[in-house]
Amino acid sequence: MVSYSKIKKILKAHKLRVTDGRVDILGYFLSQNRTLSFKDLEDKFDESDRVTLYRTLNAFTENGVLHKIPDDSGFATYGLCHDTCSSDDHVHDHMHFKCDECGIIECLEQNIPSVKVPGYQIKEATLVLKGICKNCVA
Ligand SMILES: [Zn+2]
Ligand SMILES: [Zn+2]
Ligand SMILES: [Zn+2]
Repeated sequence: MVSYSKIKKILKAHKLRVTDGRVDILGYFLSQNRTLSFKDLEDKFDESDRVTLYRTLNAFTENGVLHKIPDDSGFATYGLCHDTCSSDDHVHDHMHFKCDECGIIECLEQNIPSVKVPGYQIKEATLVLKGICKNCVA
């Protein structure tokens, strides 16, 4: 169980007003402790309307609570940020992994090696590795 006060603390630390919708969604992320797609959230919070859900996820991504993970499934996928992310400093250089078997997307600890392309200004890099996750291998 994730405590209400912990969720409130995270929202406040990221300069977000505490609303029931935000508490529910962040609480769900913390209790699942994995990445969730827009579809996962829509299925879970079926009473809430899509616009509210969408706005909440946007606020979370802007303020460094969640980061958006590139995915070709057609649904945006979100992962929890580390404590170090804020609305000012919200940079991700870790790799992601997508499992061909179960479809889960994971945040990996490993960082993307820095790449320099002469003449180009690179602002961010995304890298999604694909294969079979450790649960499916076992
Ligand atoms: Zn972040
Ligand atoms: Zn898997
Ligand atoms: Zn991630």
